[in-house]
Amino acid sequence: MLPSLFLSHGSPVTPLTDIPAKHFLAGLAATMERPRAILVASAHWETERPEVNAVAVNETIHDFYGFPRALYELTYPAPGDAALAEHVLALLAAAGLPGTLDHERGLDHGAWVPLLLAYPGADIPVVQLSLQSHLGPAHHLALGRAVAALRAEGVLVIGSGSWTHDLRRFRGAAIDARDTPDVTAFSDWMNEAVLEGRIDDLLAYRRLAPYGAQQHPTEEHLLPLFVAMGAAMGAAGKTRAERIHASGTYGFLRMDAYAFH
Ligand code: ZN
Repeated sequence: MLPSLFLSHGSPVTPLTDIPAKHFLAGLAATMERPRAILVASAHWETERPEVNAVAVNETIHDFYGFPRALYELTYPAPGDAALAEHVLALLAAAGLPGTLDHERGLDHGAWVPLLLAYPGADIPVVQLSLQSHLGPAHHLALGRAVAALRAEGVLVIGSGSWTHDLRRFRGAAIDARDTPDVTAFSDWMNEAVLEGRIDDLLAYRRLAPYGAQQHPTEEHLLPLFVAMGAAMGAAGKTRAERIHASGTYGFLRMDAYAFH
């Protein structure tokens, strides 16, 4: 069965760089069976209630400013999958999480940047699921658990965010700068908690993890982790986690990735 994945999408420039995380993403597809479709929960789509996009072909949303021109020329015209979108909504509703369809929206860079590297053919249907950041980690774990059945149907569930995300530090830092000690402390604590399956501790990361609230001044880039974890837990409530990538960028923006089995 397909794992569910948490991916750090990093800066939008990732496809134009030569960083380890880019090469990890470029090799990702070869590590597992080819999915028939992909469901992505990205940090860059936040709504009041769950929304799922249902389009024929996904538009590429360049939702960032001041980056190199070449980045705005990249597109990822993956097909949508309206039937899958309806199916996702039905699964959410059955779990007491009613949502709606969005017939316009394409893929934001949290979705298309990693997919462009992992599945450059853009020939696998992609559906996006929105986050409700105001509802916190437990809600996103529930969102993931609600759609866990998709994995057995050949759908790859991806949570795309960032392992650490204090963008206030982004002031011309070098992309290969060494992590600061607080980033390392947070990252190590989180890694242990994920690998040991300490779900309750993770749900309380803002209180328990060193520098938790500092690494995520707002939560939207960590919440996709809970969606990915939940998607592997399902009704059984258990998952085995595997760290599939670990690297840092800019001294503060970790690119770690996990597979949940
Ligand atoms: Zn982002």
